[in-house]
Amino acid sequence: MRQFRADLHIHTILSPCADLEMSPKNIVQRAKEHNLDIIGITDHNSTRQCGIVKKEALKEGIAVFTGVEVTTQEEIHCLAFFENEIELLKFQDYIDQYLPDFKNNTDLFGYQIVVDENEDIVFEEDRLLISALNADIDAIESKVHELNGVFIPAHANKASNSLISQLGIIPRNLKADAYEITKHITQEGFISQNKLNPGTSILRNSDAHFLDQIAAITTIYEMESPDFTEFKLALNGLNGRKVVLQ
Ligand SMILES: [Zn+2]
Ligand SMILES: [Zn+2]
Repeated sequence: MRQFRADLHIHTILSPCADLEMSPKNIVQRAKEHNLDIIGITDHNSTRQCGIVKKEALKEGIAVFTGVEVTTQEEIHCLAFFENEIELLKFQDYIDQYLPDFKNNTDLFGYQIVVDENEDIVFEEDRLLISALNADIDAIESKVHELNGVFIPAHANKASNSLISQLGIIPRNLKADAYEITKHITQEGFISQNKLNPGTSILRNSDAHFLDQIAAITTIYEMESPDFTEFKLALNGLNGRKVVLQ
């Protein structure tokens, strides 16, 4: 089994709160400098920058898990990843259907742009991407799994926009594939406080909004190759694959 180092929670220039330096080219460059094997692209409520980052990363031999950080009706942030472009597009359709039509104010919130490999603007999102979807956490979890995706509540112990901040507890019936936690809690602490199954996979990522945050926090995946099938096996602790929290 091999070890792959990954930072699976990275925002791009498309997220209004992310720095304008977060272009596909710069993100891939930074990931390369820090020897990351896998990066996850997770903009707020949009998957539209994933494809270009994936194409850029391929040139450098870095795997990209294409995803999104979706905001549920309860204002809980959850990471979702999809294996291929078709499933990703279907989830984008779902977001487009449930994202409220509040317009972005660039002065207040920042730009929401998709740029290509030359950093030319190819799309601007006019709906505010940090709104909550008109769909609750269970509905979103079901949709992610219907599309064979992976569903991971983000920064689950954080004081805002997390499962714990919004609900106070982790619902027993929630079908999460793993939980992302911050550096402020241990894996054992999170599992025992929330009475989770001891085998639950726990990850940490940088949640980078600036270039120098990429790879600041990473997680190791013991797998045969850096692909989505192996990632699912690792999250489920199957066939010798596993997540190793740093
Ligand atoms: Zn978040
Ligand atoms: Zn985030």
